[in-house]
Amino acid sequence: MTKDIATPVRTKMILEKYGFSFKKSLGQNFLIDLNILNRIVDFAELTENSGVIEIGPGIGALTEQLAKRAKKVVAFEIDGRLLPILAETLEPYPHVKIIHEDVLKANVKQVIAEEFEDGQDLMVVANLPYYVTTPIIMKLLNDHLPIRGLVVMLQKEVADRIAASPGTKDYGSLSIAVQYFTEAKMVMTVPKTVFIPQPNVDSAVIRLTKRPTPAIKVENEEFFFTVVRASFAQRRKTIFNNLTSHFKQTIEKQTIEKALLDAGIDPKRRGETLSIEEFGNLSDSLNRFFK
Ligand code: SAM
Repeated sequence: MTKDIATPVRTKMILEKYGFSFKKSLGQNFLIDLNILNRIVDFAELTENSGVIEIGPGIGALTEQLAKRAKKVVAFEIDGRLLPILAETLEPYPHVKIIHEDVLKANVKQVIAEEFEDGQDLMVVANLPYYVTTPIIMKLLNDHLPIRGLVVMLQKEVADRIAASPGTKDYGSLSIAVQYFTEAKMVMTVPKTVFIPQPNVDSAVIRLTKRPTPAIKVENEEFFFTVVRASFAQRRKTIFNNLTSHFKQTIEKQTIEKALLDAGIDPKRRGETLSIEEFGNLSDSLNRFFK
């Protein structure tokens, strides 16, 4: 029986056999610790009927552990040099499919419809390429995929921002965007020593459980996100100043002040103190002035 991919010895053997050189620009830091990998998979709470979508299989370290517990794994990999390696390392797992594509350009919804059964339990599980963690997470959430959630490894600093509560330094538009769609929980921090090459930053695993409906109901979702982003444009400014500079061409100052007061928000507060519900009230209150 061959040994698991994710040991330092087997990983080095595979890399040497193919003369593989890491591309920093593609966020290539491969996991070499089975204990960490198994814990990541545990957090996904897979059953033998689950389907998994993985982003960036690398040489297959995580893919293999997912394949041992799920019915099917579909993985998007951007780097064509990894395809022959994956064909060898994942040969014992015929229920794994590799798609050679940039996940940011992929039609993930269509892939799900083609590769998985209707209503099948689906999770995204990945050790994300750190240069694009936020765009990947936001794409997967904005695509409204039929998934139960995501368990992903990323920079600890980004995980802190995603899971942050109002009134903390990490709380911002990313926290609100992710928490609008999911319940976010940082479940594990991960030392640099479990990767080759070792990344420059600390890592963490975050679990995002999709809400059946968004955390709040707003009249206009796109406008809600515009208001949130505008409110954090300059963190040291008051919400009133951020909103008046963002909407200077379209909404008068007095109207913005009235919308804030109608929503029960003191215009002198800063964006970082507002809860997601308060942002919802504010967005609806401002939106009414456009009608
Ligand atoms: N899953 C492997 C592991 O844990 O050892 C590798 C993880 S490594 C942090 C990130 C992987 O994502 C690399 O294999 C890289 O080539 C791939 N990747 C980078 N950008 C990508 C993109 N836009 N779409 C799909 N894969 C990408």
